[in-house]
Amino acid sequence: MKLESFWQATAPAFSHAAQGDLPSSADVVVIGGGFTGISAALTLARSGLNVVVLEAAGVMSQASARNGGHCNTGVAQNFAALIASQGREQACRYYRAFADAVDYVQSLVIDEQIDCDFLRCGKIKLASKPSHFAGLRTTWEALRNHVDRDVELLGADEIRREVDSAAFHGGLIQRRGGQMHMGKFGIGLAQAAARSGAKIFEHTPVTSLTRIKGYQHRVGTGKGEILAEKVLMATGCSNIGPFDWFQRRIIPIGSFIVVTEPLPEAQLKTLIPNNRTCVTSLNIGNYFRTTADHRLVFGGRARFAVSNPTSDARSGKILQAGLSKMFPTLATAKIDYCWGGLVDMTADRLPHAGEHDGVFYSLGYSGHGTQMSVWMGRVMANLLAEKSNENPWQRASWPAVPGYFGKPWFLPIAGLYYKAKDRLS
Ligand SMILES: Cc1cc2nc3c(=O)[nH]c(=O)nc-3n(C[C@H](O)[C@H](O)[C@H](O)COP(=O)(O)OP(=O)(O)OC[C@H]3O[C@@H](n4cnc5c(N)ncnc54)[C@H](O)[C@@H]3O)c2cc1C
Repeated sequence: MKLESFWQATAPAFSHAAQGDLPSSADVVVIGGGFTGISAALTLARSGLNVVVLEAAGVMSQASARNGGHCNTGVAQNFAALIASQGREQACRYYRAFADAVDYVQSLVIDEQIDCDFLRCGKIKLASKPSHFAGLRTTWEALRNHVDRDVELLGADEIRREVDSAAFHGGLIQRRGGQMHMGKFGIGLAQAAARSGAKIFEHTPVTSLTRIKGYQHRVGTGKGEILAEKVLMATGCSNIGPFDWFQRRIIPIGSFIVVTEPLPEAQLKTLIPNNRTCVTSLNIGNYFRTTADHRLVFGGRARFAVSNPTSDARSGKILQAGLSKMFPTLATAKIDYCWGGLVDMTADRLPHAGEHDGVFYSLGYSGHGTQMSVWMGRVMANLLAEKSNENPWQRASWPAVPGYFGKPWFLPIAGLYYKAKDRLS
């Protein structure tokens, strides 16, 4: 078993990284070379701006190529609950933003001819307990009534035509979601951004940021400084760099993934015939999907722990046991890959994007960011280039998480709470 991301291990290398000295100035410096940063760089370069991306490690080295591979429409949380907390109009606006985001990813795949197994397969949310089916029904009704008629509710008697496991008591299908090979997409996007003129420097962590005036900043790295007219923070849940204000608002939560060996195509076709992306309804649940080479990608929180090779391997064992329980015919399937990553969680589990102290940012996709980060890269680029004011995640304020200063001490307690909640539901 390789302790590395399947998406990273099987993607082509990024061959267009900028070489040599950093430039002394730039119209925009983007900090972070994941989906948000690279997507922003592509749009900014196309707008004729001189854009420099500074990436601490390699492009697509963090969440963007360490995720579950789902590119879903719909908000992460229960839509009826979102209406209750945000109001109907705002909840529908958020929902449509995710639909636009998936459309945009698909258009990039087509326009840039990125070979990444993109599939508009739809998503199914699976009721792990009989009582959870009532929640899916409420969501289904709210979606149909307000924003998306292309949803289907399957009862306990019908669910096995979608996922052949005795573990589920119904499901909700949202048909417009997709999936893709995240590494191939990310590298394809980075190649396109570089071809358009963005200068992407790898292994260049930003270590200081000094405001000169307005949006203008001096951006410091171990390799020298750049005078930037504008700066975009696209650092995910990083704790590298002098970004305390952001670090107090984003909680990094470990999530882990295993990938099986290639399975007989007929076996996989029996288990998940429509290749949907699948998510279970438990708080500490699972997400899974198939790949183009007939593997099963199976993820979940497994443990409330950080990601490192020892921790990933321990979580991998828990995931393998969960996979065998869900699909007993896969009990002897070999696991080829196992890894972990940090989810960029916010208190309201929604992204936040705007400007703070002259620095622009788009962060905190809360585990539902493969589509939104790509879309928000474009949105923020258009904002920085002064081409549009549209920003679905602009809010009046973004309060810090109370009692949180960068070390999430409360995660084990939260883990126990959610485990108990799952057991009692
Ligand atoms: C295990 C896991 C599973 C997930 N599954 C899904 C899923 O199935 N579907 C879904 O929609 N979302 C999923 N997500 C979330 C999704 O992957 C992220 O929301 C999205 O990729 C965020 O992209 P980003 O560009 O904002 O951040 P990242 O991809 O994390 O990129 C940030 C980059 O900034 C760099 N950086 C940080 N600090 C500095 C610095 N000081 N200087 C320079 N560079 C810096 C980092 O090295 C990194 O490359 C998952 C996340 C994880 C971790």
